[in-house]
Amino acid sequence: MRHLYHRDAFDMARPVPSYWEATAGRAVDEAAPLAADTRCDVAVIGGGYTGLSAALHLARDASADTVLLEAGRIGWGASGRNGGFCCLGSHKLSNGELMARYGREGAIEYFQAQREAVELVRELGVSEEIDFDGVGNGETTLAHLPSRMAELREEAAFLKDTYGVAAALLGPSDLVVRGMASAGFHGGLHLPIGFGLHPGKYVRGLARAAMRRGARIAAETPVTGLRMADGRYELATPRGKVSAERVLIATNGYTPEDLFPGLGGRLLPALSNAMATRPLSDSELQAQGWTTREMAFDSRYLLHYFRLLPDRRFLFGARGGFDASQAGERRRSAALERDFRALFPAWRDVAIDYRWSGMVCLARDRVPHLGEFADSPGLFHALAYHGNGVAMASWAGRAMAQLMTGNRAAAGIPAALSRPLPAFPFPPLRLAYLQAAYAWYGLKDRR
Ligand SMILES: Cc1cc2nc3c(=O)[nH]c(=O)nc-3n(C[C@H](O)[C@H](O)[C@H](O)COP(=O)(O)OP(=O)(O)OC[C@H]3O[C@@H](n4cnc5c(N)ncnc54)[C@H](O)[C@@H]3O)c2cc1C
Repeated sequence: MRHLYHRDAFDMARPVPSYWEATAGRAVDEAAPLAADTRCDVAVIGGGYTGLSAALHLARDASADTVLLEAGRIGWGASGRNGGFCCLGSHKLSNGELMARYGREGAIEYFQAQREAVELVRELGVSEEIDFDGVGNGETTLAHLPSRMAELREEAAFLKDTYGVAAALLGPSDLVVRGMASAGFHGGLHLPIGFGLHPGKYVRGLARAAMRRGARIAAETPVTGLRMADGRYELATPRGKVSAERVLIATNGYTPEDLFPGLGGRLLPALSNAMATRPLSDSELQAQGWTTREMAFDSRYLLHYFRLLPDRRFLFGARGGFDASQAGERRRSAALERDFRALFPAWRDVAIDYRWSGMVCLARDRVPHLGEFADSPGLFHALAYHGNGVAMASWAGRAMAQLMTGNRAAAGIPAALSRPLPAFPFPPLRLAYLQAAYAWYGLKDRR
């Protein structure tokens, strides 16, 4: 299968060297590879939050006979290796763009879905007994330049006026009190929505819950072909075919370029890099002035995200580059480490125990896409969360389960996310577009 990046990033036999992988507990070995032909109502391709949430809700709430096929092991994709920020997000539009494109009502509808998404993850933790180490209350944007405080002030006003959300503006002394000190930050904005979680425990828990509720899950089972046969969809895998009435494509940043009609040239995967330090002592935390467990990121367009983990390791991440080979990954990781040491100088000698990266997924119009392909009835997709899918992908999975079982009203998919997925002009140039965007945002981040 063809991908936009170096094949190393798609080598599912290569274990992910992440902190989460090392601490998520028992792998979902019960999701054995598909060994024979089978039939079902719904086939789901991709075993991350989108696919697993869809499978769980299809089986639990609609008693749909569901088969999920995952190319790697459960949690191999972004869902097993992200930062664990369960928060608002999923698009890359400014407030002005949101309002201009979808209107006030459209923006509010989308915001409510995002907010509901955070709550859905919390609820799934309870209803499905998934212990995902939830921690903290809300997220804080930290101004990396004094001039960004004006933007945060505007953001606070927009949140209040449009969505009725009270976000707290923080001055430098507030940051110290909240245990968020760094000479690199000039203030911040705290939004009281969201929490941190262990993404590996969450994705494995979702898989077990979906299986317990009756979904069949086959890991290490890549879908290598998709076609119509006798009015049903036929999915080819190495050891068996699946015949399904309806299909959900939930492959996000790992979507092969050449497999699914309607997606070719319409997605732009992007690398994100992360690392975790060794556990920090009390005195090391005090020395830096960072003691909070709250989620935080800086105000750069090309942002850094970070949080102190329950076992006192510091997680730090940012966008990646363009070379997804293992050598490229080492270079990107070294650059990430330099940024980390510059922002948190008291930890300049602290060892980094884990380094990893993964693919997020962008769309040309910079919003997620959830729906049915117009020219392929019964073929659905949910993807492109713009690096912010812990909550939104979980929500999208539920919405797709409802949509695919005829419950469009319950799905409540915002109009903003229901439009056809636009193609990129000259798709082979997608990485060049991304490179140009990074260069532009890099310049804007200096001012
Ligand atoms: C380093 C990193 C940090 C991130 N941090 C955050 C964060 O803190 N907060 C946040 O909200 N979001 C974060 N994200 C984004 C978030 O992880 C994703 O948006 C979310 O996991 C998407 O879920 P998904 O199920 O749609 O896709 P994925 O979890 O990527 O799952 C797609 C799956 O499809 C499978 N697949 C692909 N092709 C096939 C095929 N042919 N047959 C069968 N299976 C196939 C892949 O193996 C993969 O497991 C981060 C992502 C990365 C990479």
